[in-house]
Parts: sequence; C-alpha cells; structure tokens
Amino acid sequence: QLRFENVDKQFGQLEVIKGFSGEFAQGELVALVGPSGCGKSTLLHLVAGLENPTAGQVLADGKRVPGPNPSRTLVFQEHALYPWLSLEANVAMALELQGVSKASAFEQARAWLARVSLEGFEHYYPHQVSGGMRQRTALARAFIAKPEVLLLDEPFGALDALTRMALQDVLRELIDEHQPTVLLVTHDVDEALYLADHILVFSARPARVLKTFNFTHCEKSHDLSE
Ligand code: ATP
Ligand code: MG
Repeated sequence: QLRFENVDKQFGQLEVIKGFSGEFAQGELVALVGPSGCGKSTLLHLVAGLENPTAGQVLADGKRVPGPNPSRTLVFQEHALYPWLSLEANVAMALELQGVSKASAFEQARAWLARVSLEGFEHYYPHQVSGGMRQRTALARAFIAKPEVLLLDEPFGALDALTRMALQDVLRELIDEHQPTVLLVTHDVDEALYLADHILVFSARPARVLKTFNFTHCEKSHDLSE
C-alpha cells in the first residue's frame, strides 16, 4: 500500500536517507526509532509529500506520492492548532475540509474530544489549555479524518504515563476500526513494542535504516546486534 523504492534524501551535502526500500501494508503500525537527527521526521515528510526524494520514489497505492493531501495526515512534533479556533472547531475543521456539514462536523468533533478525555474543554482556545491537551486535540483532529495513512511524530511525548497509555489504546481502536497505515516516530521503545507490528531502527549519521525488525518472528531480532 505504501512503498519506498531505493529512496535517497539529501539536504545539500547532508545524506539523511540512503537507499531505503520497504513496504507498509494497510492496517499496519510501524514504529520508527533511532537517535535524534537520524531522519525519522524526514521519512514522514516524504510520505506526507512535504519533501521529495533526491532519488528513488515513494509510492502510495502504486502511484507516486503527490503534494500534501488529507488522505495522508501528519501530526507534527510541534502539533499546530489554529489559535483563533476553539478546540472543537480545530477538530471539526478536518471534517469540514472533507465537505461534511458544520453541524455534523462539530457533533463528531465533540465525540472525538471526549474520546481523548477533553470533555468540557470544547469551547476553550489552544492557549487556554495545557501542552498535553493541545497534543490530544491534534490527535483527535488526525483521528477524526480517518486518513488512509496516519503519520505520527512523537505524538505522546509530552504526556503523563496514564494519559499516554489511554491514547495508545485509542490509537489501537482507531486502527482496528479504519485500518490506516500508521508510521509512528517514538523515542519510547516500550511504546514501540506495545503498539507496533514492525519496528524500523535507524542508525546515527550517516543515517541509514538498519533493519525492519518484525517481532512476530523473533529470530530476526539477532539482526539488530550486527
Ligand atoms: P529528532 O528525533 O530529533 O526529531 P529526526 O530523526 O526526526 O530527529 P530529522 O528531523 O529527520 O531527524 O532530521 C534529519 C537531519 O536532516 C537533521 O540533520 C536535520 O537538520 C536535517 N534536515 C531535516 N529537514 C531539513 C530541511 N528541510 N532542510 C535542511 N536540512 C534538514
Ligand atoms: Mg523528528
């Protein structure tokens, strides 16, 4: 469904991704782990169509990834909400962009805010709530759009352990309901083990994707120590 064919990405002289090939199936959650600056966010940007590969290609459903598109929803490390819109309006916007009527979009937005434990905060503005609450709002906005590909860049980073676990379970439910392909960047290896079907491990610079580690076949884990 989502395929990398011999992808290189350079920024000037800096070679961030080199010769990466791989395939991600519908309904699969792949965790991307690796040191800071190794190219995890860059890989998501290539899938989102925010950056183009220097060589090779990124294919979605067999077609070259076009520019930014709501079917591939990205939640940034710096989760961007519109400061002039209430939390519910920020979430509803994802549906209104898809042509859903305002009334229905707002109703569904309230339901999603409740799912991420933000009931009662629908009318607050982003600056009036905590960083973790803004992050949960950004996740609700990503989930509500039912994207085919969901790109999550450290989405649970700034959250306490209990909230994080609750949201990990909401993410699993979403995957069961809508079968998106999910690429999840995380620095939390436990989170990767808990959520992921596959884990992609990046080395430090010059960054290369080392191995796809499918822990449903644990004998492959030996590859990681090579
Ligand atoms: P972190 O864990 O800190 O978020 P990361 O693995 O997500 O790190 P990237 O953001 O993908 O790392 O960056 C990889 C490298 O590419 C970095 O050295 C970064 O400075 C560089 N880089 C990323 N985007 C650009 C860009 N648009 N222009 C120039 N250099 C870039
Ligand atoms: Mg990053």
